[in-house]
Amino acid sequence: MDLNLNTPIRFTPHVGPVMASRLERLGVRTVEELLYHIPFRYDDFSLVSTIARIQPGETVTIKGTVESFHDFFTKTGKKIQEARVTDGTGKLTVVWFNQPYLRSIILPGSTIRLSGTIGFFGSKLVMNSPQYEIIPESQTSSLHTGRLVPVYPETEGVSSKWLRARIAFLLGGVLGQIVDYMPPSIRASQQLMSLTGAIRTIHFPASLVEAQAARRRLTFDELLLLQIRSYELKYIREKQELAYSFTVSASEVTDFTNALPFQLTGDQEQSVNDIVGDVTRRYPMNRLLEGDVGSGKTVVAAIAMFVSHKNGFQSALMAPTQILAEQHYHTISRLLSPLGITVNLITGSHKLNQESRIPSTSLRAGVNHDKKNKTKNHNSKFIIHNSSVDVFIGTHALLSESLTFDRLGLVIIDEQHRFGVAQRQTLMEKNTKGKIPHLLTMTATPIPRTVAKTVFGHLDLSTLSEMPKGRIRIKTWVVSKDKRKAAYAWITKQIQETGGQAFIVCPFIEESESMVSVKAVTQEYTTLRGIFPDFSLGLLHGRMKPKEKTAALEAFRQKKDAILVTTPVVEVGIDIPNAAIMVIEGADRFGLGQLHQLRGRVGRGTLASYCLLFTEATDEKPIKRLKSLETVFSGPELAEIDLQLRGPGEILGTRQHGLPDLKIASFSDMDVIEETQRVLRTITRDDPALAAFPLLREQAQKSTIED
Ligand code: ADP
Ligand code: MG
Repeated sequence: MDLNLNTPIRFTPHVGPVMASRLERLGVRTVEELLYHIPFRYDDFSLVSTIARIQPGETVTIKGTVESFHDFFTKTGKKIQEARVTDGTGKLTVVWFNQPYLRSIILPGSTIRLSGTIGFFGSKLVMNSPQYEIIPESQTSSLHTGRLVPVYPETEGVSSKWLRARIAFLLGGVLGQIVDYMPPSIRASQQLMSLTGAIRTIHFPASLVEAQAARRRLTFDELLLLQIRSYELKYIREKQELAYSFTVSASEVTDFTNALPFQLTGDQEQSVNDIVGDVTRRYPMNRLLEGDVGSGKTVVAAIAMFVSHKNGFQSALMAPTQILAEQHYHTISRLLSPLGITVNLITGSHKLNQESRIPSTSLRAGVNHDKKNKTKNHNSKFIIHNSSVDVFIGTHALLSESLTFDRLGLVIIDEQHRFGVAQRQTLMEKNTKGKIPHLLTMTATPIPRTVAKTVFGHLDLSTLSEMPKGRIRIKTWVVSKDKRKAAYAWITKQIQETGGQAFIVCPFIEESESMVSVKAVTQEYTTLRGIFPDFSLGLLHGRMKPKEKTAALEAFRQKKDAILVTTPVVEVGIDIPNAAIMVIEGADRFGLGQLHQLRGRVGRGTLASYCLLFTEATDEKPIKRLKSLETVFSGPELAEIDLQLRGPGEILGTRQHGLPDLKIASFSDMDVIEETQRVLRTITRDDPALAAFPLLREQAQKSTIED
């Protein structure tokens, strides 16, 4: 069959549907994606020796003939496979543990190549669990032995050995079809290896130096392409015809901010200025407002909506959860209603999606019921076409087909990474007249500077790094298993003495919370009721109905429950000023950034606040990582520490926090990031549309960036 880069991997030799579905777990679906499955290290089996010359402790490759093979049991009952191999200079015993299937592979008389480390078995020299390769006498090249051997990210049922063989085979078939999209001028100035060479070499390098050069080429490409992609997104947007260019009166904004019960921080003021600058331009705003938990993003959003209203336009704010939407609704109506701005809450997406006919009363909070504002379309679906509402706040329910806008001038998306590109797009396209509104997205995810530069280059960025005055520092402790009892006693005393409340978070996954974890949190809830018999405890998890969630949170807000046992659903935005203690179970299972988010749920009022990180871990490494929360209180700084301690590949859930997965590069590749930025600046200076670089642009289209 003819193979090409786009051939689905399941149609290639020796890959059936089973292997194909396993490969999908590694993100590999096509031949090209397999070639871009990059080894994360190499085993150095390049030292080739004769049996007579091997030394204990050495990692070597030998080539010989299998003399015998047999299984036996050790005294402790373990099954061992032992082969005797000779190469004319001596005999070597080779052992594997519990791999009985080797009997049918390592047949006496066959020529074998073995790579492994030499140790002792009793007093005899042996090679332990080596890599092996049965080879025809004539064959001189090797894949798994006698060289630098690539080791890949694996998954159950897909070993490095298997990947190596498949990749070697496919390289042979398609390497000639790879087109180097990098202009020769850039290749020359950056001294880049050819693309074909880099892909071959990254898998099968002759030396580590060569592997390094291949990696540099692929890293350079990945980072440059990402930046071209985000550059183009920005370039296209700035060419877009803007529907609504606002005019903003400085005194109106000042009147608004003067009426606030607090003074804006300098960063908040700066962000407001940034936004005002954007909305008065000729093309739509696309700004990301980034601010640590509690930095006060909501009020900035409210000011933007106020400006939109002053210009006669509607605004819509979408939040990822009902709880959060309700909270925003309360905060924002308090700020905007006194100014005669109508604010509405729209949640309950399930009902809206499943039934085509729903009276608007089933929308949770009063969409205006005036007859004149309800029209029916041909399918006799209700259209909520409400021109008398100025500000819509809601969940995904805002995306419902039956909701359209007359004059939507501003879209705000909170916790933007929790929505897909398509969802954001749907909201942006809801204007009946098809005009593009301004877009403000918000996130509490600390975005390292290097990441912002590469993948968010198409967005304008405002950062709130300054905390509002009077914020109390949340005292944080890592609590080991043996201190747990004492901690529970301390919590009891603390609640009794101060009247503050506590969250206890159990480490289960949020949206996708399975029944198993629901059971676990419910069990934990029962246990905790035994530990805190004097208090009333509430329970909150992702599998509860929206109504039940709201009720649980309300009971806690109204101090009916002293303790709320919860899954990380409370991570996002919950604002309960009387909550002063945050306990996180199994804290080592979270990223530092996420722990910081959770910690930000307390310390929002006047009570001294505490965060207790419970862990069963005893190793130094995870403890040290957690302990950084005791001294570091800035989200971005913690994210940086996590990046260093765990390594980019290991950061769990970067995707759910909105940062893209890099295949080869890492966001700590500062040098290459700067290099690629320079290159992009140079080539766009004279050619802003990148007209001379069609191949590069085409390739960049494949980079996934969320616009
Ligand atoms: P986040 O950025 O995490 O969404 P919020 O917008 O929820 O933060 O703000 C957190 C709290 O801080 C709110 O109770 C808000 O009223 C308050 N706040 C916001 N800005 C200021 C400020 N400049 N001074 C004092 N308090 C503020
Ligand atoms: Mg918020």
